[in-house]
Amino acid sequence: MVFEFTDQQKMIQKMVREFAEKEIAPGVSERDEREEFSRVISDRIGELGLTGLCFPEAYGGSDGDYISYIIANEELAKVDDCVQAGCAASISLCAMPIFQFGTEEQKQRFLVPLAEGVKLGAFGLTEPNAGSDAASQLTTAVADGDYYVLNGNKIFITNGGEAETYVVFAMTDKTKGVKGITAFILEKGMPGFTFGKTEHKMGIRSSQTQELIFQNVKVPKENLLGKEGEGFKIAMSALDGGRITVAAQALGIAQAALHQAIKYSKERVQFGKPISANQAVAFMLADMATEIDAARLLTYRAAYLKQKGQPFSKEAAMAKLFASDAAMKITTDAVQIFGGYGFSREYPVERLMRNAKITQIYEGANQVQRMVIAGAVLR
Ligand SMILES: Cc1cc2nc3c(=O)[nH]c(=O)nc-3n(C[C@H](O)[C@H](O)[C@H](O)COP(=O)(O)OP(=O)(O)OC[C@H]3O[C@@H](n4cnc5c(N)ncnc54)[C@H](O)[C@@H]3O)c2cc1C
Repeated sequence: MVFEFTDQQKMIQKMVREFAEKEIAPGVSERDEREEFSRVISDRIGELGLTGLCFPEAYGGSDGDYISYIIANEELAKVDDCVQAGCAASISLCAMPIFQFGTEEQKQRFLVPLAEGVKLGAFGLTEPNAGSDAASQLTTAVADGDYYVLNGNKIFITNGGEAETYVVFAMTDKTKGVKGITAFILEKGMPGFTFGKTEHKMGIRSSQTQELIFQNVKVPKENLLGKEGEGFKIAMSALDGGRITVAAQALGIAQAALHQAIKYSKERVQFGKPISANQAVAFMLADMATEIDAARLLTYRAAYLKQKGQPFSKEAAMAKLFASDAAMKITTDAVQIFGGYGFSREYPVERLMRNAKITQIYEGANQVQRMVIAGAVLR
């Protein structure tokens, strides 16, 4: 067993860390305050090749590996998890299903620009009445000659409105239940495809979250992803991978909180000594560090299995569940260590605590992760 990254992976880690500190860290709290998504930073991630890490050269990638991609996610999330979330939605939830289920023509047309980072992707599954119960899709797709005609809407879509390419799910045959759901690739600008409400959120405020609206959108049949009726399978497969990036997001947030808490606890003097000299505070830091290590091991185990082509659905759910709960607890404790200053927007820990919350909710709330894990252990 080897508990070490390869030299190549260490190089990527160093490169992403330096890039994030130099180009992403400045302005992170201002972007949060203004709820501003930065397309400039998103494009830079593509220029640096981070969007192509897990794809072959033939499809605009760098023949890297999946673990390198997760390393990049962790490093980005340490500095600004909104930037990381945008990249992960584009790569794990849009580019990856096209890579896994797309035709050669679809890969050249849609995957290559996503992997090269010149286009941004998004994933449209959630609807007002289909959240955890994703199978209750009301968006419909009706075959009509060379097209499918889509009607409905999707809410809470990361990169919505910003992205050029969308993997979207719709019901082609209601009578078949989950087997009646089909995946499509949509492009921004298709007639009838518009954007609705932009969400104003508690956390990840500089991540763009917007509604997608379909009104008689004529989607050419060549944009069908996979086969008719395979949509649910495609969505679940994309979410399995996406959950590893959510775990990496939580891991990055938690580490940033621990880093801040250690620094502050050594500097802040009360009762004539640094607050870190109190065992009550030091033990909180010890627990935080331990949970981060456990979350990291679960996250990279899931990434390793995916890279090896082995089943990883249960392990991805475990990583997401544990890392997100740890991030929530760690960021809450970090705010506690900062006391009143932690509650103030002057310090970054309140933003980290707000951002941690989403990792327990999206790509399947943690109750849904427990359903996945329980289903696997009871099988
Ligand atoms: C910022 C943000 C970005 C998002 N990005 C995307 C995106 O890019 N694409 C996309 O398709 N979706 C996206 N989503 C949607 C997200 O995946 C859903 O919000 C999430 O899956 C939960 O669905 P819901 O909000 O409808 O909650 P509900 O399904 O209504 O659940 C509410 C609560 O009930 C619990 N619950 C539900 N059913 C059960 C059960 N059977 N047993 C136990 N507990 C249960 C849930 O765990 C949760 O705690 C995003 C959401 C947010 C907030």
